[in-house]
Amino acid sequence: MSRTVYVNRRYMPEEQATVSIFDRGFLFADAVYEVTSVVGGKMLDFTAHAKRLERSLGELDMAAPCTMDELEQIHRQLIERNELDEGLVYLQVTRGAADRDFAYPVGATPTLVLFTQAKSIIDSPTAQTGIKVISIPDIRWGRRDIKTVQLLAPSMGKMAAKAAGADDAWLVEDGFVTEGTSNNAYIVTADGTIVTRDLSNDILHGITRAAVLRFAAEAQMAIEERPFTIDEALNAKEAFFTSASAFVCPVVQMDGQAIGDGKVGPVAKRLREIYLEESLKTAT
Ligand code: PMP
Repeated sequence: MSRTVYVNRRYMPEEQATVSIFDRGFLFADAVYEVTSVVGGKMLDFTAHAKRLERSLGELDMAAPCTMDELEQIHRQLIERNELDEGLVYLQVTRGAADRDFAYPVGATPTLVLFTQAKSIIDSPTAQTGIKVISIPDIRWGRRDIKTVQLLAPSMGKMAAKAAGADDAWLVEDGFVTEGTSNNAYIVTADGTIVTRDLSNDILHGITRAAVLRFAAEAQMAIEERPFTIDEALNAKEAFFTSASAFVCPVVQMDGQAIGDGKVGPVAKRLREIYLEESLKTAT
């Protein structure tokens, strides 16, 4: 079935949606994006995603394509027009189309593209079973805090995981885990402390990460924001990851070794429940 998508101020059937070959998103990956999850036709944490988008744009001196209120309305329109009950809204802003030149063009009009993806995200099989990860070197650039569409390194990581019979890869730099290919990474230590890397330019500042840490703190769970090693992960009681499209998902195996007892742990399970319950309360 054809979706209605949004391209530069127009709603249209996906077959008709096009972007210029001179678009800098295409030529330079000069573009940023956001993914917002939808449950029961409502968005989870839209305001936080809009704020992160503004920050990404600001860090790259890229003009905003419209106001954040207009952006919210476009999200709502797409959810409505596509009768999206559960899934995702993908948004991408590029610096726009201009003759190819490394220097940013002056006065280019930003390209804005949005589309929906229907997907069962609450009843996901991986949340029940947990996933297997491998560890690989983090070969990405130094501004991972900006949510750009430069996603080839993460794609290569996912393929390496697949080739090894695993589901995802955790990225390692200077001996410490940065994050998963498309998610933030956590371990639970022997004394029950939740450990996840502190915020810096090394990782994406996950919207789900912020919410989960807030809910964990409210539930009196112990949290340490610091880098951890693969060795610590292998010896952890539990591991899990967070992202807007997977919420909280357990990691039960790393590099072919079971983490903890190799089963979904109680902390990941509880955090997923709390996250879903609390986020749905404030969904818009
Ligand atoms: N890190 C990376 C590299 C990601 O791509 C993502 C998801 N896009 C995340 C973390 C998780 O961020 P969020 O919770 O905002 O989806």
